[in-house]
Amino acid sequence: MARYTGPVCRICRRYGEKLMLKGDKCVTKCTLDKRPSPPGMPQTRRRKLSDRALQLREKQKARYSYGVLEKQFVRYYKDAVRHPGVTGENLVQSLELRLDNIVHKMGFADSLKQARQVVRHGHIMLNGRKTDIPSATTKAADVIGWSATSKKTEYYKFAQANMSSKSAPGWLNVDAAQMTGRIVAAPGIAETPTKFDPAVIVEYYSR
Ligand code: SF4
Repeated sequence: MARYTGPVCRICRRYGEKLMLKGDKCVTKCTLDKRPSPPGMPQTRRRKLSDRALQLREKQKARYSYGVLEKQFVRYYKDAVRHPGVTGENLVQSLELRLDNIVHKMGFADSLKQARQVVRHGHIMLNGRKTDIPSATTKAADVIGWSATSKKTEYYKFAQANMSSKSAPGWLNVDAAQMTGRIVAAPGIAETPTKFDPAVIVEYYSR
């Protein structure tokens, strides 16, 4: 699956918000603190954004936050509509349950980008089966771990040594010593603070 490979700090500058796209690095050193202006030519006057433009902004922030391209994002939205419950919450939940996001949130990778690479390289086991698809969907009670050969790699040792500085959200149960984790329950909207408003994204696609 294709993905955005351009400079990520540029995205934060465009939206004037820290989207934390570089994971842990964003906490120690953030480009937006040094260069808060939007990318491109300096603007002489600030334009007032239309409602549609504001909705588009929220949708784009969500896409970039989870590293999902438009076509795939529309599929998540359509799935969210089909399922019972609040569409915006369903949307956030299915994005949160992507395997790359789970690997990141469990602390096995410093950023979503790194988590995607760890999955892609076949290091991750989902319920005992090697899974190298970052967009693979997980569910409550799923167990995520590392393959036996991956446990011999330098990256694994490095990630394990760094586990003490990580904290996973309450809906994930992580055993840092064994480098495994279990999804206790699908996350509710209150447990998944986002940098975007899911209700506004629903408005964007409802037109
Ligand atoms: Fe965004 Fe992180 Fe870059 Fe800061 S360092 S601008 S939060 S991606």
